[in-house]
Parts: sequence; structure tokens; C-alpha cells
Amino acid sequence: MRCPFCGSAETKVIDSRFNEDSFSVKRRRECMACGARFNTLETSELSYPRVIKTDGSSEIFNETKVRRGVNRAFEKRKITTDQIDELLQKVLTKCSQYPSKEIPSSAIGEAIMSEIILVDQVAYLRFASVYLRFDNVNSFTKIIENLEKQPSPRMIKNQKKINIDE
Ligand SMILES: [Zn+2]
Repeated sequence: MRCPFCGSAETKVIDSRFNEDSFSVKRRRECMACGARFNTLETSELSYPRVIKTDGSSEIFNETKVRRGVNRAFEKRKITTDQIDELLQKVLTKCSQYPSKEIPSSAIGEAIMSEIILVDQVAYLRFASVYLRFDNVNSFTKIIENLEKQPSPRMIKNQKKINIDE
């Protein structure tokens, strides 16, 4: 790791600490040549299965797409950036650990929904309404009824998939 100020390759780590989410390590370094101090952030690089879309075509896994979908669901909701990051990390880890080289896009959507519902029911509804593409009022009503039937958000986690086709 070269010094960003003078380009010297001689730097030493003077402090390391885990970020709160413990998914990354922040290191403080000092340049032996010019004495400048700077931080580096180390995160693990996840590898993902290829995404199989509903029309059968495939594409590479796109973290940004997942992030965008989640951010949209939580827009103007009471949630911190750290909480969103933590939720995203869980979803991404789940996807990277998917036991196949290919993952259906529906499995990604379900991974996201199963995490959002634990945090915020309104955000969950928003995400579900986009992801499941409600085409009529009845299916949306059904999702809401499913939510209301549950004594707590956590219970819904075990519900494998909400059927909106009935
Ligand atoms: Zn330097």
C-alpha cells in the first residue's frame, strides 16, 4: 500500500479496528518516508452466482441494483445508513453463499424481503409492491392481510413465500 502523498511503499500500520458492523477493518497507516498518516478500509470481496432472470436470460450479479432497490424501499423511513448497510450486507452475504453457480432473481428478491420485513413493514410493502409487480388491488390487499395476520414481523420470516396468485 503506497503512501497517497509521496508514493513511498514504506508505510506501517499504527492502528487497526473493526468497524461497528464488523464486516470491515479500518487501518491507520503512517508513511515512513514523509510521515503522512492516512486510513485504509479493508472489506472482504464477495463473489456471486450468476443471476437468472424470470425470462430465462442471465446477467452478472449487480450489487448496485440490490442497493438501489433497498434504498428505494426505505426512502423517508426512520432508518439509519448503518442499519441499511447492515441489512444489505446480510442480503449480499446470503446471495454470495447461494449453493449454486446460478441464482434466480426471485431468490434475490426473497432474500431482500426476508430482511426488510424484520426491520420495517412499510418498507417491506413498498419493496414487495415493486418486486412482485402487483397487477391488481386484490393481490395487494392479500399481502396486507398476510401482514396483519402476523402477531409480529418476525413471524413472517418463516413464511416461505406469500402467494399472490390465488
Ligand atoms: Zn509519504
